[in-house]
Amino acid sequence: MESVSMISEPSADIAKRWVQKSELADIYDKVMADRRLSREDGLRLFQSNDLLAIGFLANLVRERFHGEKTYWVYNQHINYSNICINGCRFCAYSRQQGEEGGFLLALDQVAAKVKERLHEPITEIHVVGGCHPDLPFSYYLDLVREIKKMRPESVIKAFTAVEVAHLAHNERLSVSEVLQALKEAGVQALPGGGAEVFSNRVRQLLCPEKLNSEGWLQVAKEAHLIGMRSNATLLYGHLETAAERVDHMLALREAQDETGGFITFIPLAFQTANTGLSGVQPRTGFTDLKTIAVSRLLLDNFAHIKAYWIMLGAKMAQIALHFGADDLDGTVMEERIGHMAGAQSAEALTPDELQGLIRAAGRQPVERDTFFKPVVRSTKSPSIPLYERGKIFK
Ligand code: SF4
Repeated sequence: MESVSMISEPSADIAKRWVQKSELADIYDKVMADRRLSREDGLRLFQSNDLLAIGFLANLVRERFHGEKTYWVYNQHINYSNICINGCRFCAYSRQQGEEGGFLLALDQVAAKVKERLHEPITEIHVVGGCHPDLPFSYYLDLVREIKKMRPESVIKAFTAVEVAHLAHNERLSVSEVLQALKEAGVQALPGGGAEVFSNRVRQLLCPEKLNSEGWLQVAKEAHLIGMRSNATLLYGHLETAAERVDHMLALREAQDETGGFITFIPLAFQTANTGLSGVQPRTGFTDLKTIAVSRLLLDNFAHIKAYWIMLGAKMAQIALHFGADDLDGTVMEERIGHMAGAQSAEALTPDELQGLIRAAGRQPVERDTFFKPVVRSTKSPSIPLYERGKIFK
């Protein structure tokens, strides 16, 4: 009886036979032969509704890279200001100068945020803000130096390509000069935000004032040239088409072929609330998992794909660990950008909670630093009850 033997057969074999008989069989052959997928393949993956087959393919690549290892980082986010001249329609975070709700942290307020958590073994400090009209470059450099002085052992991952280009424009410096000065102050990596979708059509609709896609890629490449690393993002689930998502990924793949400087690809799930796009149909779980899986398949030269739990929610991020993602990001501590746009996740997870999510998904948690070097601790990481249990998995 075939059904009986099917039940006792390892599930991976069943899935393999399923995919081999599916419309994605030729893509399976390419994945097994470790051959680069084409734009056409990417489009077909997005068109297919065989989500489990797509996930199976992405998981093959994910496990080829990392086996069961799943990474997380003990990090802290600091948003120094939300005052921004760009007014992107999808952004719930920014305010015009003088507008109610705008903020700019003084350097001693930034220092106080770092000091509050000095007892925790944080390895990465993530700093981003808006494009402030007249904040001098010295503020940014002093901010970085202050954090570095207080946390010499942590990596400072700071400022999007958009902020870097804005600073260069305001200060009449070249992008390279800005990056070099930030590097000397202590910045070691760029977080990768601001890429949104590279499509000029979408950028005209959403963020015509913002640094364009060529500019974003240029800042990333220049950072790589001087030895800084960076992440790359895609904001999806608003006005973009599947083809525009694919083209975005392929532009990143081409840049990575050139420099090899990208660490992680981060698909950012768009949050609709409080934005100029509140009427946009909310994205679905299918879109989340498919976007992560297709990115794992197309971005064959990116070592890591992140399921950013802040935007996805912890439960969806956990499922994504079987759809191509190998990294959950980190503890975060205080997140404003996604939450001002209605993200329903908590604002922090403890190390125990992150590792619990990973283990419950059948994966092996590995604490990493910004560059994915495993962090070895002599004692168990402290468990910090930041949130009442039960409120975490909203
Ligand atoms: S997305 Fe960034 S650049 Fe655009 S308005 Fe918001 S803070 Fe400014």
